[in-house]
Amino acid sequence: MCQLVHRRRAVRSPEVIREEIPNLIAGGRAPAESGQWLEKLRPADAMHLCQLARSNAQDVDAAVAAARAAQPAWAERTPVERGEILRALALLLSERRGEASEIVAAETGKPIELALGETDAAVEMGHFVAGEGRRSYGRTLTASMKHRTVLTVRQPLGVAGLITSFNTPLPNIAWKAFPAVFCGNAAVVKPSEEVPASALFFAELALEAGVPAGVLNVVQGLGAEAGAALVEHEDVELVSFTGSAATGRWINERAGRRLAKVCLELGGKNALVVCDDADLPNAVRWALASAFSNAGQRCAAASRVVVFDDVYDAFREQFVEEANALEPEPVISEAALERMLDAVARAAARGATILAGGERSDSSGFQLAPTIVEGASPHDEISHTELFGPVTLLYRVSSLDDAIALVNDSPYGLTAAVHTASLHRAMRFAEKAQAGVIVVNGGTHGSEPHMGFGGVKDSGTGWREAGIEALDVYSDWKIVTLIADPALA
Ligand code: NAD
Repeated sequence: MCQLVHRRRAVRSPEVIREEIPNLIAGGRAPAESGQWLEKLRPADAMHLCQLARSNAQDVDAAVAAARAAQPAWAERTPVERGEILRALALLLSERRGEASEIVAAETGKPIELALGETDAAVEMGHFVAGEGRRSYGRTLTASMKHRTVLTVRQPLGVAGLITSFNTPLPNIAWKAFPAVFCGNAAVVKPSEEVPASALFFAELALEAGVPAGVLNVVQGLGAEAGAALVEHEDVELVSFTGSAATGRWINERAGRRLAKVCLELGGKNALVVCDDADLPNAVRWALASAFSNAGQRCAAASRVVVFDDVYDAFREQFVEEANALEPEPVISEAALERMLDAVARAAARGATILAGGERSDSSGFQLAPTIVEGASPHDEISHTELFGPVTLLYRVSSLDDAIALVNDSPYGLTAAVHTASLHRAMRFAEKAQAGVIVVNGGTHGSEPHMGFGGVKDSGTGWREAGIEALDVYSDWKIVTLIADPALA
């Protein structure tokens, strides 16, 4: 949890994380101008981990000015050169994956194996984007008039404000910073106040890899202070945001007033459907992984599991038994844990049944046991609200059409999965489910670096992160017409 520093317990931080996590502006570490710090607690045991700069509009001004100053020279480099520097960053991150992952594990409380996998995913994003240096194609177009050649070329936007969530700190930054910087922009990252150290680590590694000072800056602090100042800054041409729909809505309104480009990657209430012809052990395995990995703190988490009547009891028995056998993992903060417990208690008070979990575990951190709730109405608040934790709802349906209707009865539309042996059912589901990602016989998982990822409805505003689609977020297309006069040849 982040709050003003009050040092409840003096505990030595793990060596990978320094006591003070400052901003990184124009290549130099800088505390907040105000001199204030926020405390960051370790989710695993609620002990003091470190303190981060509590930045405000003044610090954001300095970071945006540094980005503005560095951007033109960076944009002058060829895409091949920029790609090579980003490849060097990816290689450096790969070399230092152990250190990077220890920082992530300490800040988030996730197991080191998970953190290592995420670091590798950030590295892969770097390699994919670096390859665009030699593959960043435009088009040649025909023209109605003679002797004209028309080309499309990408151009950078200028300064990008990159605001990220806490859940997978390195991939969240990598998915934005690699394409933003590759396209010739300079950027100011405002990481989640819950994961300041991994953002600083990434940006300092970028410096070491040869990204010029000022091209990738970091401003630490609270969303309402540092984040809002970045969104409202006149010199920020693009705001790219990953976080909750509520914050995204505010950002869209505020940045929209000054007609800035805004890319929003928001939440989900993703459903995994189990048909009566499904391979049940496989469906249970994927439902567990989708609902509970990373303590359910995944935008693509399966927070709804929709099961056909005929196999409902058998599925439920196995699902609950295996969920009870999982080790509780911490969620990011005390506030997040309280919010989840309250939501589950309110659903229970309205008649839902808690089949597993639902209570704070007796460890000293922010652990919540995998929680399964049955019998909540599809219209209940808990059915429509993203909890972003290890809580999933079980529903019973009698047909594929009912399942699809339930899947689509949500403000969100990020990912969805169906388990069936029938090609016809799978194709019907893929066609009708309202989501940006559909998986057949697997989990409601996310994406790989070469696959554009994003959702519909309240899950986003239509942009796709990762894939070559990400380049469309961070660049504008320019049309260039060349007129050659044969008489002058
Ligand atoms: P959040 O919206 O609380 O915060 C996200 C970021 O926005 C943080 O850096 C925060 O400091 C900042 N912020 C908060 N208020 C702000 C404001 N007024 N102006 C500017 N910045 C502000 O979300 P969170 O709790 O960090 O993350 C969880 C959410 O992120 C979930 O909804 C999850 O589904 C979503 N998410 C989406 C994706 C995706 O790709 N679609 C990926 C990961 C997480």
